[in-house]
Amino acid sequence: MQKRLITDAKKTPERAWLANAQHSMLQQAVRDCDQAYKNFFDSLKGARAGRKVGAPRFKSRKDNRQAIRFQPDGFRVLDTGKLRVSKIGAVPVAWSRDLPSAPSSVTVVKTADDRYFASFVVEAGDETLPDAVDEHGQDVELGLDLGVSAFAVDQHGRVIDDPRFLRRAERELKRLQRALSRKQRGSNNRRKARKKLARAHAKVSDTRQDWLHQATTSIVRENQTIVLEDLAVSGLARTRLAKSVHDASWGTFRRLLEEKAARYGRELVIIDRWLPTSQTCSDCGRVDGTKPLSVRTWPCPCGATHDRDRNAARNILAAGRAERQNACGPDVRPHTGADGDEAGTQRSAAPAQ
Ligand SMILES: [Zn+2]
Repeated sequence: MQKRLITDAKKTPERAWLANAQHSMLQQAVRDCDQAYKNFFDSLKGARAGRKVGAPRFKSRKDNRQAIRFQPDGFRVLDTGKLRVSKIGAVPVAWSRDLPSAPSSVTVVKTADDRYFASFVVEAGDETLPDAVDEHGQDVELGLDLGVSAFAVDQHGRVIDDPRFLRRAERELKRLQRALSRKQRGSNNRRKARKKLARAHAKVSDTRQDWLHQATTSIVRENQTIVLEDLAVSGLARTRLAKSVHDASWGTFRRLLEEKAARYGRELVIIDRWLPTSQTCSDCGRVDGTKPLSVRTWPCPCGATHDRDRNAARNILAAGRAERQNACGPDVRPHTGADGDEAGTQRSAAPAQ
């Protein structure tokens, strides 16, 4: 394959441009393709755990988004802070954080709005945080109901919502989208409008990512156990009820919580998607039947009056507790052995991304 796709291809006029790239990178692309096909066929045969893997797709050098991965022989971080990459040279970098170890590879991405990002694969040390406990030494727990009216609500009724500027930016995005669709195909104005839209998209997505990172970091730092509903279906069901701007973010929210919980030694419990968390009274356990979304508060015959989202969050937390008990018996949560002596410095550290 390498002979056909690299060595021989370079000699043809259509593929002569391949000579502009570093050789080992082309070899890596062939190896990546091999791995992708292997994963695809294993997945077809059922020999691969997890989600179904699709067939590899072609990429084009004319795509708006471009990525290139350098192995250690293709790049070096210079003492000056510049990044030297093969065939290109030393490139100035605005570092978002220090590298904790020597990187084993770097991926340079060019986005649709013409920005370049370098992302390094590094070995990270132990980042376990001291246990999050309250004044009685009990684990701090959080049950979150992902809502329609707010991003999420916890068991105390506290609302986590995305900031106003994000919603404003999303409206602006819609406006630019409309402006683009009115422009003549192939016209200069259309090209300009597309560029504007790409820039606005990038801005909204950056802002959302930044907000999600901040929200998940503080949740993971402040709580020992975090309980969420399985999003896969509840998200879908909600989409049918009310198309929520949060739908796309919830997946990222959960992924970030998973990553950070694992990294900092917290427990994330995902409970069964079929539990009727918004229909059950969190005081007496009575299941009261489906409630339309417009019902924000409801009384239970036991005397309790419930805020819909807060009640759901309380049920989610209770289900998460039950799940933990089943999984590991009472009170055998693995203690990660982190000592408290670093609490001050670690807690005040800037949120890691
Ligand atoms: Zn009740």
